[in-house]
Amino acid sequence: MLTPLILVGIVIMSCLMSVGILGSLLRTGVPGIGRWCVAHALLATALAWMLAAGAQPGQFTTFGAAFIALTALLLLVQGMRQFFGKAYARHDETAAFVIAFAAVVYFTYVSPNMGAKIALVSTLLAYARIAVGTLALRHAPRDGARYPYRFVAAAAFLGALFHIARAVAGGFGVPQMAMLEPSPWNVLFLGLAIVTLPCMSTGMVMLAHDQLARKMEQLASIDELTGALMRRAFMEKANALLREAAAKGTPVSIAILDIDEFKAVNDAFGHAVGDRILRHFASVVSARLRSRDILGRLGGEEFAIICVDARKRDAAALTNELRLAVERSPKDGVGCTFSAGVESVMPGDTLEVALARADAALYLAKATGRNRVVTAPEVDERDVETLEPHRL
Ligand code: GH3
Ligand code: MG
Ligand code: MG
Repeated sequence: MLTPLILVGIVIMSCLMSVGILGSLLRTGVPGIGRWCVAHALLATALAWMLAAGAQPGQFTTFGAAFIALTALLLLVQGMRQFFGKAYARHDETAAFVIAFAAVVYFTYVSPNMGAKIALVSTLLAYARIAVGTLALRHAPRDGARYPYRFVAAAAFLGALFHIARAVAGGFGVPQMAMLEPSPWNVLFLGLAIVTLPCMSTGMVMLAHDQLARKMEQLASIDELTGALMRRAFMEKANALLREAAAKGTPVSIAILDIDEFKAVNDAFGHAVGDRILRHFASVVSARLRSRDILGRLGGEEFAIICVDARKRDAAALTNELRLAVERSPKDGVGCTFSAGVESVMPGDTLEVALARADAALYLAKATGRNRVVTAPEVDERDVETLEPHRL
């Protein structure tokens, strides 16, 4: 038969497993994991204490186990805030827990009242669950899979629901509510409340994995120095934008930007200053890009931009604005300019072919004096024969 004792035993095992799994993730440095890990160890301790005390736990046991469980839940909420990069402690919350705990002491030793104590502790447990669920939903990243965040929230809210039911039942003096009494009420409320806990813990491990996956993805696709996309990630995203534009029949253009005489900057001011100028250049450019355009670092001091919904002349105008912005904002007293080649992507073009034509235009910009934007010649200005293989 399903008794609270069996349920508690199962949850202790699952808490210990969570400690093991979260502990193995500690070295990844994902924020919040430390608190989650300690919280699960505390929960296992509180539940093991209850289990050891048996069906009729003494005052000190219920009081001590409640204190440990509440501390654990508070740590879970704080860990959740830490995970999302927020300040983990909230003074009003900590104060509420301290006051509630004082009330538990009162209802244990001064004026023993089991119903009030159950109502109080269950309310706090419900609050903690609601806080965890709300944080998971509110701060879930907008991009990518939101499944782990919804999973945590669902488990947290379901747990909260049962804690609330138990709080209400405790408040109304429903009999036989002592923690481990095998009454039908207990099996229903307590059982379901604590069975949702392992689900919440599993969800937290999923959150940690999700953040790790995002971190790895970012490391593999974002250039650390400039924040621009690295070549491979840029080519992937650019190809996706080209496919999207082809499906919608909208124009796309490409610009290749190369900083002028950058070797001379390095030679004159040193590599560290060169790095700062590169970073500054990228920030000036990306701050002025439209939200759907992408910036990639093709290598060294050479960058590329994909301008969506832009014909060649629109892209050239945008690139020229970028050129003026870069020219007008020297970094640490050192000015820098760039030259650019701009080309539109024709139907049937591969990205590489369009980039090669933009590169030829960039070569012209360098050859004709630098600090300028040159567009690739129009189709009828070129040798049509050589274009044939790239046409639809
Ligand atoms: P041009 O106007 O013809 O483009 O001249 P340039 O000097 O910019 O071109 P060149 O290709 O001769 O030199 C590029 C320089 O960019 C050489 C290299 O040291 C420097 N560079 C490439 N990557 C980095 C980097 O990450 N940091 C720094 N500081 N310099 C870099
Ligand atoms: Mg250069
Ligand atoms: Mg170059």
